[in-house]
Amino acid sequence: MSSEIKSIGVIGAGQMGSGIAHVAALAGLEVTLIDTNSSTLDKALARIEKNMKRQVAKKLINADELAAGMKLISTATDVKELSLTEQDAPDLVIEAATEKEALKATIFKDLSEIMPPKTIFASNTSSISITRLASNTDRPHKFVGIHFMNPVPVMALVELIRGIATDDDTFDAAKAFIARIGKSPVVSADFPAFIVNRVLLPMINEAVYAIHEGVGTVESVDEALKLGANHPMGPLQLADFIGLDTCLSIMHVLHEGLGDTKYRPCPLLVKYVEAGWYGRKTGKGFYDYNETPPKPTHRQL
Ligand code: NAD
Repeated sequence: MSSEIKSIGVIGAGQMGSGIAHVAALAGLEVTLIDTNSSTLDKALARIEKNMKRQVAKKLINADELAAGMKLISTATDVKELSLTEQDAPDLVIEAATEKEALKATIFKDLSEIMPPKTIFASNTSSISITRLASNTDRPHKFVGIHFMNPVPVMALVELIRGIATDDDTFDAAKAFIARIGKSPVVSADFPAFIVNRVLLPMINEAVYAIHEGVGTVESVDEALKLGANHPMGPLQLADFIGLDTCLSIMHVLHEGLGDTKYRPCPLLVKYVEAGWYGRKTGKGFYDYNETPPKPTHRQL
């Protein structure tokens, strides 16, 4: 019998962290959501409530469940709040901060200093080695990859990744946690970008090359993949949805981790990220979301 997860901490209250808090709270777990500033946390709580209301409207949950779920989420700007007493410390901390390895390494070093030994550490990284992230901690055996899909409340899959040192109890506890929050785990080996992004991101990168080289426009590439491959959204719409900064980070990890030029990030993707056009979360990416309907932003010279 593995350790039971009854409470969690979530580091990073962006699109993923707030989604993880949402599903965990609805499953009856106590959640502490951490981010660096309180306005991000306020926005995250508002987003969670809005998304839960949408679920109420669709009759997926009722108003009492919404209220109970919201009550289980608390927020803080300092990770130290997670371990004021050993008893109160969460059973699991999931890191869902920006996809930058140095940042994640610092977060895990800090967590190692303050969290009691019982707490399992997990990362929601899209691509970075779980074994390498675990090496920043005092507990590589209690470290695991729990990779959610976006949007978390909607997507059924969670990839479960075992680092080289992850012990069976940690792996089983993470698996039981995924089941408890109503998701389906697929186990992936600890290779760059795991399964879904290993397949998905090179396709998105290729779609960016297609517009970069003038094979098609933003609209025609998206339309072609929707109608021709039955994808629910086009690859450039999907890139905007994921976040172009995250897409570029994943391509870098694939390129560096696997050493194959087929993973070279498209220079146009680099340019969009340099411009700060990260997609939906900044209002502009391959589409401008200030326009209705969103208008393609890419111009051929
Ligand atoms: P995001 O930019 O929406 O959110 C990241 C959050 O982390 C921000 O609110 C930022 O303020 C916060 N943060 C940065 N440094 C921090 C620190 N030191 N302490 C606490 N918070 C900090 O990004 P996101 O899309 O939510 O992605 C987060 C993680 O989830 C990344 O590792 C990403 O690869 C992964 N992921 C993303 C997707 C996706 O589709 N976007 C899917 C699966 C996994």
